[in-house]
Amino acid sequence: MRRPPVVLLALTLIAAALCSPSSGVGLSSGTPVYAQDTLGGTPSQAPSPPPFGLPFNTPPGPTTWLFGQAYGNTTGAYAYRRIWYGTGQGIHFGIDFSARCGTPVVAIGDGTVAIVDNLGYGSGPHNLIIQHPNGYASLYGHLLKRPDLSVGQVVQKGEVVAFTGDPDLTCTSRPHLHLEIRPRTLNGTVDAVNFIDADWDALALVSAFGHGFQRNLDNPRQWQTLQDQPSITWGGPLLNDFPRTWPYDWK
Ligand SMILES: [Zn+2]
Repeated sequence: MRRPPVVLLALTLIAAALCSPSSGVGLSSGTPVYAQDTLGGTPSQAPSPPPFGLPFNTPPGPTTWLFGQAYGNTTGAYAYRRIWYGTGQGIHFGIDFSARCGTPVVAIGDGTVAIVDNLGYGSGPHNLIIQHPNGYASLYGHLLKRPDLSVGQVVQKGEVVAFTGDPDLTCTSRPHLHLEIRPRTLNGTVDAVNFIDADWDALALVSAFGHGFQRNLDNPRQWQTLQDQPSITWGGPLLNDFPRTWPYDWK
């Protein structure tokens, strides 16, 4: 469905307002705090250096883990924009790492356990959220079992906190870790690629992520790289309901 021009204009104005410096949380000198309380289509900020690490302690490879699907305006998220990703504005709101069931998952940064196994935050059958002192939270989803952690427990970067599972509960259909980075309010997500210190372009070379990003033919360079993807706010309008697009919409 084509969005009425008046809505597009309103979205443009809102996006412009959100991009203003006043929308960010102020920095105290030397303290890397990047969180925004309002997201929804704004570009993900790119902290330098990225504050977090990968969620695995092993190198990537066919016997460990591989970069499965990027965050953002992916072809898969577009295809399922009204179903799986509708509440996330049509965007794949995390990074998928393909891994066989039971692969150890580590905390991407020091932090405190905030949520254990609350499916109100998505990514069943089991999930985990860790709050980090820099104003962001990490969500680990599609876990094999309930993490053996309690709310309030302090965890260290690199510490094993969970094990990968499969959203289909088979461990053969699509076993993977879904990792999100959210602002501390948990009301949306940012492009985790910009927050995790890794050679993403090299990881993408050997990944299953071969279909890339959905193209908006009216703005063909928009959201086409790993690093240039929009933040989302839960419940916001679809960002990728493109009237003219490639690949074609499967209806
Ligand atoms: Zn995912």
